[in-house]
Amino acid sequence: MTLTFALAACGGGGAGDTSDDASDGAAAEGGLIGVAMPTQTSERWIADGAAVEKGLTDAGYEVDVQFAGDDVPTQSQQIDSMITKGVDLLIIASIDGTALSSQLQAAADANIPVIAYDRLIRDSENVDFYVTFDNYNVGVQQATSLLVGLGFLEADGTTPGAAAPTAPVNVELFAGSLDDNNAHFFFQGAMDTLQPYLDEGTIVVKSGQVEIEQVATLRWLQETAQTRMDTLLTSSYNDGSVLAGVLSPYDGISRGIITSLQGTGGYAPDAMPIVTGQDAEIASVKLIADGVQFSTIFKDTRKLAEQAIVAAESFLAGEEAEANDTESYDNGVKVVPSFLLDSDIVYADNITSLLVDSGYWTAEEVASGQ
Ligand code: BGC
Repeated sequence: MTLTFALAACGGGGAGDTSDDASDGAAAEGGLIGVAMPTQTSERWIADGAAVEKGLTDAGYEVDVQFAGDDVPTQSQQIDSMITKGVDLLIIASIDGTALSSQLQAAADANIPVIAYDRLIRDSENVDFYVTFDNYNVGVQQATSLLVGLGFLEADGTTPGAAAPTAPVNVELFAGSLDDNNAHFFFQGAMDTLQPYLDEGTIVVKSGQVEIEQVATLRWLQETAQTRMDTLLTSSYNDGSVLAGVLSPYDGISRGIITSLQGTGGYAPDAMPIVTGQDAEIASVKLIADGVQFSTIFKDTRKLAEQAIVAAESFLAGEEAEANDTESYDNGVKVVPSFLLDSDIVYADNITSLLVDSGYWTAEEVASGQ
């Protein structure tokens, strides 16, 4: 499906074109698309919003992008008003993946296709498509990078033999927000990867907190992670035990953990536990370059935006979008056809090849962390 074909096929507006707005100006050419994003407190969602908006605008659509400040009622209201306005299609990155059933029912009643963006929307049959990364594999990559940092694996995935740690090492675990379906996939992928080491006792979670409910971070908040890390340090590491690594699912959480490790934990910047991450946020990329954070996962949001637009154009042309996965994402009511993208592990030594050479960040941004 090319943009040109879809645009031509789409003609004047799309399936759910019920408003006067959509017959005015740009909307008359391609249609009006509602884009609901969760928050502007994290760089990635700002980048996602901008990339989706630009791609759709360039393709001739009018776009209504809204950010909800991580507030669930705000996001529901924003989607309600997009439906009232007569959008032709909705692209939604949800805050609470279980909270949008009535909005999605209203969309279905108005024949508005819904694409779940990055995060699966659960408990509704009215999700037409899902564009995301291979979230289970993101978790595998996070745990793999932790194992590399701890010396259990080489960066190419091979075992280092005699050089691997012989004494047990202490690790603590963090997960994302329980209302975000992705958090469960990341944690499952990570735990499946760490389980053999936990079983044989070469990795020990000293706090004993290994269930996702115990280690989750509501709304992925940095401050919440920092507070939990402080508590872990004072309750489980006040006997002089060394913490060797922390599984962190997102760079904002990683920075909260790092602040706590350097403050309450007293770890020097050059003697930090291994801390993982996700999203390749610029502040964390700099911390990785400086050897403070160990790794992150790069998910190229430009490619995700592009894929969302390809799928949107298919629906607006009255066709099904092309999926590359039709079994992984059961939302509780149905398996949602999905398009999954790949991600990469970022270490200090591949920042340039992965992030700078691809134009995601400039060398200056990496150097300044902004
Ligand atoms: C996204 C991650 C992001 C997290 C926090 C998840 O749903 O997949 O990329 O780090 O939300 O914003």
